Amino acid sequence: MSQEIDAIKSRLNIVDLIGEYVRLQKAGNSWKACCPFHNEKTPSFTVSEDKQFWHCFGCGKGGDVFTFLMEIEGLTFREALENLAQRTGVELPKYQSSGENYAPDKKNKLLEILELATLFYEKQLWEGMGKNKALNYLRERGLKDETIKEFRLGYAPEGWRNILNFLAGKGFNLKDILNSGLIIQKEPNIWEAGNFYDRFRGRIMFPILNPAGKAVGYSARVEPGGDESQAKYINTPETEIYHKGNILYGIDKAKMEAKNKDWILLVEGNMDVIAAHQAGIKNTVAVSGTALTSEQLSIIKRYTSNIRMFFDMDEAGQKAAVRSAQIAFDKELNVAIVAAENAKDAADMVKENQEEFLAAVNQAAPAMEYFIGSFLKNRNRNNIEDKKKIINELAGLVNSFANKMEREFWIKKIAEKLEVSENILFDEFNKREYVVVPRNEIGNIELGNASRSGSALDKIKNIQVQIMGALISDDNFWREGIEKYKNEIEKYFDNEGIVNILISQGGQAGFNFEKLLESLENPEQRKFLRELYFKNCEADEDFSSGQDKWLALEQYFSELKRQIAKKKSVEIIEKIKQAENSGDKEAVKKLSAELMEINNIR
Ligand SMILES: [Zn+2]
Repeated sequence: MSQEIDAIKSRLNIVDLIGEYVRLQKAGNSWKACCPFHNEKTPSFTVSEDKQFWHCFGCGKGGDVFTFLMEIEGLTFREALENLAQRTGVELPKYQSSGENYAPDKKNKLLEILELATLFYEKQLWEGMGKNKALNYLRERGLKDETIKEFRLGYAPEGWRNILNFLAGKGFNLKDILNSGLIIQKEPNIWEAGNFYDRFRGRIMFPILNPAGKAVGYSARVEPGGDESQAKYINTPETEIYHKGNILYGIDKAKMEAKNKDWILLVEGNMDVIAAHQAGIKNTVAVSGTALTSEQLSIIKRYTSNIRMFFDMDEAGQKAAVRSAQIAFDKELNVAIVAAENAKDAADMVKENQEEFLAAVNQAAPAMEYFIGSFLKNRNRNNIEDKKKIINELAGLVNSFANKMEREFWIKKIAEKLEVSENILFDEFNKREYVVVPRNEIGNIELGNASRSGSALDKIKNIQVQIMGALISDDNFWREGIEKYKNEIEKYFDNEGIVNILISQGGQAGFNFEKLLESLENPEQRKFLRELYFKNCEADEDFSSGQDKWLALEQYFSELKRQIAKKKSVEIIEKIKQAENSGDKEAVKKLSAELMEINNIR
């Protein structure tokens, strides 16, 4: 294989490959960019054209063309190899001759299933049951046939076993098809075809393609005249290759254009992406089935730092615009807002008046200017109540800027506009603590420090984290631990983030740590858990036998109860003192009884 690897490397310039994902700038003998793998403001990601390798001095990652593609697309080595072989026209020897031993890895199989399914749905749209109603609907919405083909739209016919039979006929087993998210299993653990049915029925299918252009899932719209009582759109559930938190609809077609133009348009829905694309704005993406996440912005940041947002003008749309801008400020992206009065959504606007749409996108206003203007609308800046309201509405935005200079700049602007002194505004905004992405409490717990400071609260947190660490470090132990201690966790853990992760999110991930990590949208949480995991794996060597683990867990829980009781008794003693001071004998009596009860537990 090394021959082929060398052949690929000799035909491919690493700067071209990485340049497809990252804005590289020439710096002396090498190229530099902000690292796509960690968050940074000054570029420490370096590519050597001479040596054909890359390295990031910030996060320490690095390697050759293969490792880069593996990292950025989340591929296995074999997948990266096949991808680059195809691109460079290098022929690879067939895997392990006989073929029997070669089981294509899971991800590849899923991609294969989804590719076939996409072809099936396309065929149904153009030649099958979708060619009347569904196709007409798309044309009526203003889409040209070539656009429909470019986005590979399709149609999932009515009926319970269309895609199931089609894929089974291609030789895939039920488990693989189930893993693709295309079918639903009625009863768990029964592996007969009759126990399964198609997830998407009577729906227009929008394949969701990853940056490499491969289908990883679907967003499916109920067909016109179909059962509108059902959800208008349903999406593929989380699978091995589909994570809704990092999906951007249209990214495969938008990425190069976004890099070249150095801005990207974010719209609300799939139809908006397609319409904008058809109108010539190919650098358009949408989130699919989720609110904008910080992960999605990280993907955008690989290509550009300038984002224009087109949200509906109704209240929900404008709220989403504020929230999205906040996350983007936190990521140090430059945000502009497209104001499209009178328009329902981008798709309708393109259909009704393309020129107006293009003009609106071109005239997108810096987000803060836009929001200040829109909050001032219909209000009187000389009225103190109105002033307070506006400041309240702006606080979240102002406090989201990761860049303090930018924050200061806008506070000065607002002071000017509202005729309030800057100092007072600084005070007002500083008063309001604001966290951009709703972070679960868990992100705030620091690892390892708690044990050294002595307060009961710290001790309680510390034990909770230790219990969590012990559980997540071993899938089976975790599953059994929850079975045994679920009630205790719900009762004695005051940290909702931890309880959620241990019980419900853990359960959804089948108590598999890697799956759990993949399912978490908050990178802080993922980082916290990874560190906790590694710390615990080191500690694990101390008590390798299963029995010791259970014993340790038992001790953690009794210590946890003891600490909680201790904290409570301190609180009660404090109350007793107060009651004594105020001469409330009745209360003193009651509290003393409570105290005794708690001490008995201890
Ligand atoms: Zn880095």
